Amino acid sequence: MQDYMSLAEKNGVILKDFGACQFCGAETQKGIHECLEIFNVGFQRINFSKEENHRYRFLIVDSHTLQHPEIHGRWNNHFHLTRLHLMIKYKVKWTYKLSPKLSEHLNQYKKGKEEEYLWPPPVLKRGRITTTEVLKVKEDELKCKTLIEKWAIEVYEVLKEHHEIVDGIATGFLKKGNVFSSNK
Ligand SMILES: [Zn+2]
Repeated sequence: MQDYMSLAEKNGVILKDFGACQFCGAETQKGIHECLEIFNVGFQRINFSKEENHRYRFLIVDSHTLQHPEIHGRWNNHFHLTRLHLMIKYKVKWTYKLSPKLSEHLNQYKKGKEEEYLWPPPVLKRGRITTTEVLKVKEDELKCKTLIEKWAIEVYEVLKEHHEIVDGIATGFLKKGNVFSSNK
């Protein structure tokens, strides 16, 4: 857990430990710390170990990470927005095996692109749906899943100006045959 604190410090951001989440606006009491806690353990009605539910884990991680880039590494937006793009636009059925392949693809992509940043929208303008919104419906598995889908689409849409860039990364990734070979 110390990790995100040091990343925030590195990014010159002071973390508030009270009130609403300073990044996404979630209605928390302890700010980002509580927002992360909900993200880590909040939606237990969904059995994430079942393969059919893996999708929701990926969508949660992508949505939350893209709403809180200040506590993540510099290339995280590239990874998570590309993954959302592949799942939403290209309807890729994501699997755990594909994530390291996408990281590898990005490692090659980022060479010579040290100046390329996928800047997020200002804080509190990264989609209305947040961890606390999803938490409110956590007892109802279907509602929870539906809201997670909406959450991901909302976050994906607020980053529209970067869709062209991630489309280039995504199509390069697809051309390598990664999805086909890992779903076989
Ligand atoms: Zn938050």
